Amino acid sequence: MTRGIHLEVPFTRLDHAEPALFAELMEAVEGVASGAAFILGEEVERFEAEFAAYCEARAAVGVSSGTEAIALALRALGVGPGDEVIVPANSFIATAEAVTLAGARPRLVDVDPESGTLTAKIVEAALTPRTRCVIPVHLYGRAVDDLEPIVELARERRLAVVEDACQAHGARYRGRRVGTIGHCGCFSFYPAKNLGAWGDAGAVVTDDPGVAERLRLLRSHGEHPKHRHRVSAGTARLDAIQAAVLRVKLRRLDDWTAERRRLAGALTERLADAPIDPPPEPDAEEAHVHHLYVVQSEDRNALREHLGRRGIQSAVHYPLPIHLQEAFSHLGLGTGALPAAERLARRVLSLPLFPGMTEEQLERVGRAVGEFARQREPVAAGAV
Ligand SMILES: *Cc1c(COP(=O)(O)O)cnc(C)c1O
Repeated sequence: MTRGIHLEVPFTRLDHAEPALFAELMEAVEGVASGAAFILGEEVERFEAEFAAYCEARAAVGVSSGTEAIALALRALGVGPGDEVIVPANSFIATAEAVTLAGARPRLVDVDPESGTLTAKIVEAALTPRTRCVIPVHLYGRAVDDLEPIVELARERRLAVVEDACQAHGARYRGRRVGTIGHCGCFSFYPAKNLGAWGDAGAVVTDDPGVAERLRLLRSHGEHPKHRHRVSAGTARLDAIQAAVLRVKLRRLDDWTAERRRLAGALTERLADAPIDPPPEPDAEEAHVHHLYVVQSEDRNALREHLGRRGIQSAVHYPLPIHLQEAFSHLGLGTGALPAAERLARRVLSLPLFPGMTEEQLERVGRAVGEFARQREPVAAGAV
């Protein structure tokens, strides 16, 4: 019992835990450093070609982060000042920030209470004459169920669709990779994502060569050809060291995703009797890449403390929906405005799930959640 407390189950695993991978990554970094071509260049072009092929997209443009990927996608599609962009309140703050960065105004909306994501019905109810774009978020790695109806509605109303696929590298929606169904798909390679760099990095995928060309201008001083600056844009480039790291890891991504799927299935089986709500089952086998394994509980905070006492790390994605963050208080949406997103924020808990997680770690997580349930049952039956 006391011994168990010292056996941590971390929330995720870092690259140095896998010596063969780490050695290969160091070699890739050394290669870039020896060539001293740190910004854009061949390494970035190779990664872009490989990532586009992986996503089954015509083009990928490497940028400096997932947030910049969304902001530049909006700008490349002509979304800017005076425009409204529909954003789900149940997402990472970056989805809304990117809209502000592009000079447009986020219109924060509620989500489907089951999937936690946008639906066409929600989007339709939020349309105004200023709406120019909608950003479905493939939250936790699961393709948005209602994506096709959303794209269909956007086509009718002449809106752009930018997919926030920052958590969903490789997920498929009705056979197609996410990110390729809207006009642009945006990815983050923040170290903790399923495909993570050794710093900040991101990419936009698109099938439109004109949009890809504008993205390349916007990420680097609006310059093309050399010394011709067509737009005032600044820098948001992918650097060569990150590209080299990402190329090594991209070759392993499908194996890691397969492992995440197997672990998620095994964890859901172990939690079958626990009075928590497991993550909703994906529609199709490849619809979910399990970036995060998120359960729901009315006693989320107590459950989290209980796990912490047993050396099991957990996290909350996200404790406060975007409309209740100070940064977006000017939008005037108070508590109660978007009830489904607010309910999720109170109930969600992300459990550890990562490639390399052992059977023993999985068992410990399952057992600890089960114990919490058994301890609490008598209390729940009492007059609390
Ligand atoms: C990580 C993330 C982003 C932003 O990515 P950064 O690389 O951290 O800028 C945007 N949206 C979602 C849903 C994310 O999870």
